[in-house]
Amino acid sequence: EKFKEGLSKTRNSFAEKVNDLVARYRKVDEEFFEELEEILISADVGVTTVMDLIDMLKTEVKKRNIQDPKAVQAVISEKLVELFTNDDQTTAKLNIQPDGLTVILFVGVNGVGKTTTIGKLAHKLKNEGKTVLLAAGDTFRAGAIEQLEVWGERVGVDVIKHSEGSDPAAVIYDAIQAAKSRKVDILICDTAGRLQNKVNLMKELEKVKRVIEREVPGAPHEVLLVLDATTGQNAMSQAKQFGEATNVTGIVLTKLDGTAKGGIVLAIRHELKTPVKLVGLGEKMEDLEEFDPEQFVYGLFA
Ligand code: GDP
Repeated sequence: EKFKEGLSKTRNSFAEKVNDLVARYRKVDEEFFEELEEILISADVGVTTVMDLIDMLKTEVKKRNIQDPKAVQAVISEKLVELFTNDDQTTAKLNIQPDGLTVILFVGVNGVGKTTTIGKLAHKLKNEGKTVLLAAGDTFRAGAIEQLEVWGERVGVDVIKHSEGSDPAAVIYDAIQAAKSRKVDILICDTAGRLQNKVNLMKELEKVKRVIEREVPGAPHEVLLVLDATTGQNAMSQAKQFGEATNVTGIVLTKLDGTAKGGIVLAIRHELKTPVKLVGLGEKMEDLEEFDPEQFVYGLFA
């Protein structure tokens, strides 16, 4: 239901075009596939992914000797799900340790919804019975610490902070010590997202990560890159940049509710080989879902 609601914009544009397509054609021919290709590209699925998907569809249509365009629709759903699940990537589930401290590091550029997602995730984990602590590691952007504190209050979790402009690695260090002494289950770390000085930002992230690695063996258990679905191919290039600098373990795609181009989820999964672990489907505390390919594809066509 959540997916259905959150994907309504994408569904309205994408599913309607597909419905219209299968209604117009009498047989499944080259022209049919060309039109389908255009529809997929207009939903931001990404050219490489579209090509692969069309190839998969053609093979399947031939194998099953499908003549009726309407019958292709079910095959599209099937192959979309397959695109999310047929590779050997790690699962879309968050890597939460059954015992001991789990450290989750959030990265991403300003404005993508990083703070909001941290708040939402804290809420979700707390509801699952976990104890959570937040670390205000974005010491650069004015107001970032306060914004995280607002979320902390809303959700009912503490925030470890220093003053604006201080060393993020020191904040994270303190937060880890606090998490250990309070025997907290999960520490979620915010980081800066300024892109004006990319080299410095990447160095800063590297330092933060080193502190986490040193203080908590096996951590960070997740490095989650937050991307804004409404920015389309821009999100793809951000993913590539961060991917080069840090070992991203999963992607959070926000604002899926605000775009008709939800196909970007497919492009990310398929082209970046990084699992989409969480999706943001609105601005409220509850609007964060674990990514489920079948639910997602169902949400596209339902
Ligand atoms: P940050 O700079 O990356 O920390 O971004 P913020 O968390 O401040 O979010 C930027 C804006 O995006 C805010 O207005 C949020 O309410 C909004 N936002 C975040 N996630 C979502 C989402 O999933 N859907 C919608 N519609 N808005 C979102």
